[in-house]
Amino acid sequence: MAKKVAIAIAAHPDDIEFYMAGTLLQLKKAGYEIHYLNLASGNCGSLEYNGATTRSIRNTEARAAAKVLGAEFHPGITDDLEIFYNLELLRALAAIIREVKPNIVLTHSPQDYMEDHTNTCRLAVTAAFARGMTNFKTVPSKPAGDYDVTVYHAMPHSLRDGLRKRVVPGMFVNTSQVHKIKHEALAAHKSQRAWLDVSQGLNSYLLKMEDISLELGRMSKSFKHAEGWRRHLHFGFCAADADPLKESLGKNCLINETYERELEN
Ligand SMILES: [Zn+2]
Repeated sequence: MAKKVAIAIAAHPDDIEFYMAGTLLQLKKAGYEIHYLNLASGNCGSLEYNGATTRSIRNTEARAAAKVLGAEFHPGITDDLEIFYNLELLRALAAIIREVKPNIVLTHSPQDYMEDHTNTCRLAVTAAFARGMTNFKTVPSKPAGDYDVTVYHAMPHSLRDGLRKRVVPGMFVNTSQVHKIKHEALAAHKSQRAWLDVSQGLNSYLLKMEDISLELGRMSKSFKHAEGWRRHLHFGFCAADADPLKESLGKNCLINETYERELEN
């Protein structure tokens, strides 16, 4: 049987743990090889240390978190607030996609509270789209591949878009069984405790993750802890009805029928 591979592509060290790690862990349990990539280094995430020191601290923390998750770690390709939708980053990310050959790409919501997240989403979508285009050159150079990939978007921060509108998931993944490991992975980002207190009033980033997870669980009406996802339109990626997340996770993945019905209108 062909190897099944999933990659989480987020903006900053700790974003995967907030929005995606429970699903990655469930996919791992379902037999997937899982990969972990934050595009930015996290270098701005400190008032105490300079950029270079912060970059190094957060690289160590992110590697430790990936280890907790049992995921293959990929180093970032840029710095905080420097995630632009540009050719250099697109070539670099497309090279990683061609190397990893994912069946599933998990990334940020197309609408989110800050541009690093939305630009990461745009880069991830196009890098996945370009996987088979031989005339698109990656850096480093990697051969194009012929395979399907399905892209899923995580919930935006605090489940709202940049204009404060509530975003509802198209599907819920039950993360209750893996919540403890997800929590442990987030706790590996030790430097963020003090920083998020000051910068964003998250009196504890661990409690914030817990709140979001429980809220999505309540919204699902089925699970205690959950993560929410919206599936990207299939054109250029996979078959119209391809939904490997649902297929792989079975009862641990619940389709939001209200959302599906609204898509038909
Ligand atoms: Zn972030």
